Amino acid sequence: MKNIIFIAPPAAGKGTQSQMLKEKYGYVHISTGDLLRAEIASGSELGCEVKNIIDKGNLVSDELMIDIIKSKLTEIKGKPFILDGFPRTLNQAESLDGILDDNYETIYLELSREDAVKRIEGRLTCSCGKSYNMNDEALKPKVAGICDICGKELVKRDDDNAQAFIVRYDNFLNNTKVLIDYYKNKNKLHIVDVNRNINDIFEDISRIVAND
Ligand code: AMP
Repeated sequence: MKNIIFIAPPAAGKGTQSQMLKEKYGYVHISTGDLLRAEIASGSELGCEVKNIIDKGNLVSDELMIDIIKSKLTEIKGKPFILDGFPRTLNQAESLDGILDDNYETIYLELSREDAVKRIEGRLTCSCGKSYNMNDEALKPKVAGICDICGKELVKRDDDNAQAFIVRYDNFLNNTKVLIDYYKNKNKLHIVDVNRNINDIFEDISRIVAND
């Protein structure tokens, strides 16, 4: 099974699609955002520093991110994985080339800025990693404010606000978008329009996974 790398602007649904792929194919889901939020929740000094960066919508340093990914990939010992949120810069992508073999495909989840803003406004998340959207009937929780999966209270991420969104989206344009050409040139890029029903998106992604 090919490993999967998601490239996406904020709120494109890479976490949700990763979760669905994990359930269907048994991938290990590596979300750098989730790993950083776990570090914050641990109350460590590093977590405190990271929180200041993430809450403003800025990117955490390449050095730290590459260290995190290296140790995570060592930990999973060759199991098939999804990278959700890494790489986000050219530097990170080049480092990843030194770690990965050729057994991967990159999927760019395409979403306009306008649609990303709408999603950010309605998004609620659970600490278990599940994400919901109050602006989309299909993505609302069954009981308002409560996670369908684990029953915990849903919260708004500290960086899901208008101010941090501007920075996050600019970071996507200025640092991450270059990766689309990077992986296209390696013949590793698939583009999926995500301004559609969640199951239709998943069907397209599953086809990519199944064909490769
Ligand atoms: P996400 O959950 O993927 O939206 O990530 C949340 C935040 O974590 C981002 O806005 C960044 O501040 C930080 N982050 C996650 N992955 C990376 C990365 N690969 N490089 C730098 N910062 C990252």
